[in-house]
Amino acid sequence: MTTPNTKPYRILLYYKYVPIEDPEKFADEHRAFCRELGVRGRILVAKEGINGTLSGTVEQTQKYMDYMKQHPLFHDMPFKVDEHEKHAFKKLFVRPKKELVTWRLNPEDNVDPNQLTGKKLSPKEFYEMLQRDDVIVLDGRNDYEYDIGHFRGAIRPGVKTTREFPEWIRQNMSQYKDKPIITYCTGGIRCEKLTAFMLKEGFQDVYQLDGGIVTYGKDPEVKGKLWDGKCYVFDERISVPINQTEQVVVGKCYHCGQPADRYINCEYDMCHKQHICCPDCEEKYQGYCSKECEEKDLVKYEG
Ligand SMILES: [Zn+2]
Ligand SMILES: [Zn+2]
Repeated sequence: MTTPNTKPYRILLYYKYVPIEDPEKFADEHRAFCRELGVRGRILVAKEGINGTLSGTVEQTQKYMDYMKQHPLFHDMPFKVDEHEKHAFKKLFVRPKKELVTWRLNPEDNVDPNQLTGKKLSPKEFYEMLQRDDVIVLDGRNDYEYDIGHFRGAIRPGVKTTREFPEWIRQNMSQYKDKPIITYCTGGIRCEKLTAFMLKEGFQDVYQLDGGIVTYGKDPEVKGKLWDGKCYVFDERISVPINQTEQVVVGKCYHCGQPADRYINCEYDMCHKQHICCPDCEEKYQGYCSKECEEKDLVKYEG
């Protein structure tokens, strides 16, 4: 059933909204387990659930998934699995947090996806709705993620962090309250709360892509169709391909404006600005976002 592995490492992406009584205690025990196992990555634990992304050898990640599948809270939690040549993280962080995704909603706006959330669409159902003229497609991620890749025709939310979403929705989406709206994000977790929030705001017909973009890209029937560009990911790969049938570059080089879809961080440590950069400009600017950063960085070599 499964195809033989060609790469020695795997990257796991997973989440589940499920009540966890004591996130601190859970995180301590889970951290010890992960250390012992040798996996790396980021796992957030909150009273509302778990959100993780990990890398490890095929054997380590398999043991992790087997362990979670035996856990009463997580036995039905889906894992998205990618193959990779090496670890995609330098360290392991397992942290208790207030929220899995930082929304910081006011108490009166707060929503619990365990109680209320948008209708879930399989990749095939999502693909079919994408092709309808009456459907609004809303990207549930940040602007810099949208800029290197998104579903064709999707609305770009002008937000730098999830926290800005409630205000942005209220100001920019209210004309669509009676329309069918489909939302998507990397692995699905952000749309659980986004769609819940929208339903609470009075949007009538809100859907979310179950398993997110990465699941859509792996669907053997849909093959990532109607996705343009790359998908931003929060590990050392920075972005991954999704569309298996056509490759379109939607990003633009920060320096010259030519099509490009690779993010780099400015070489100057005090800046570290993440920007899309074409290979020519990377050489020309030596990885700096500006001449100023290059000059400031060179000062340290002048003693
Ligand atoms: Zn360029
Ligand atoms: Zn810079």
